[in-house]
Amino acid sequence: MRGIVSDHELTSPSTLQETLALLSDDPGEVRPIAGGTDVMVELAAGVLRHRRWVNIWQHDELRGIGVGEDTITVRALTTYSEVRAHDVLSREFPMLGQAAAESGAWAIQNRGTIGGNIVNASPAADTPPALLVYDAKLILLSSRGERVVPYRDFHTGYKQMQREPDELLSGVVLPRDPWLVGPDSRALQRYRKVGTRKAQAISKVCLAALGVVEQGKVVVFRLAFGSVAAVPLACTAAEAVAVGSAADATLADRVAAALTGQVLPLDDVRSTARYRARVAENLAREFATDLANGLTGFAR
Ligand SMILES: Cc1cc2nc3c(=O)[nH]c(=O)nc-3n(C[C@H](O)[C@H](O)[C@H](O)COP(=O)(O)OP(=O)(O)OC[C@H]3O[C@@H](n4cnc5c(N)ncnc54)[C@H](O)[C@@H]3O)c2cc1C
Repeated sequence: MRGIVSDHELTSPSTLQETLALLSDDPGEVRPIAGGTDVMVELAAGVLRHRRWVNIWQHDELRGIGVGEDTITVRALTTYSEVRAHDVLSREFPMLGQAAAESGAWAIQNRGTIGGNIVNASPAADTPPALLVYDAKLILLSSRGERVVPYRDFHTGYKQMQREPDELLSGVVLPRDPWLVGPDSRALQRYRKVGTRKAQAISKVCLAALGVVEQGKVVVFRLAFGSVAAVPLACTAAEAVAVGSAADATLADRVAAALTGQVLPLDDVRSTARYRARVAENLAREFATDLANGLTGFAR
């Protein structure tokens, strides 16, 4: 049954401190709402569990992209449109730009936020695979202070995460390793979203990958998927078999074999487990083959 707006209570504090106090007064009872593009769908579907909400959209401290010497910080309220429009971010972290460009359509891109995409914790979300591959860190903020969690450790099970009920996600930190994302990088970066259509489709499978080969050896290999497990998945087994090994014709087979225990998709309304496993393997093989063949850069 459709949810009713008047069954819910929304507070809009003018300061971030007030918002943090509200979240910590009654931990777990009050939930943040940012762009609302996931929350409103749950409301319409009648599955919105929480009654009390705190609006965070007005907190400009949580908005924008900060470029530092060694890192770029994408604050939680940054929208997909803002990610797409940012020069340095799009140049150095093109997989994130592409994930933003392929999320929803313009209305969603103007309102949906990076923070909401991460904390909503859908295994089918589009920015998480890119953030896993870029080795992002999350900044979590509460009235108790701030802490940093490697994104690779954040999702612990389906819709489970290392976030305390009184914590806001305040930003995502991306390391600007010149070797990987600088102008002289020899890395191959790849992002592929496979859905029913080219636009306005939730992923059936989504891949982000980054690799570097030096003197015939794989020295960096990072591979992540959306929609193939209960969480956005960093394929650590495939990464382990690839790094340190020869970048030769056998790389694709070795990587594909290592997916077996980790890529465990489900059948659902969007696709079948069989299709997803096959597509994930094909995408991983294609990336490994291109890497072994000496391709570098980012090709859409
Ligand atoms: C038509 C449509 C198309 C879509 N297409 C895509 C798509 O292609 N790819 C994709 O990945 N997603 C898609 N989405 C889902 C959604 O737009 C994204 O997940 C978006 O990034 C959510 O951000 P938001 O700010 O709107 O989150 P909200 O709806 O405000 O919040 C989502 C969840 O995150 C929590 N939250 C939000 N911000 C914070 C924070 N800073 N700290 C702590 N908790 C927080 C909220 O409590 C809530 O549980 C689509 C949605 C719609 C309606």
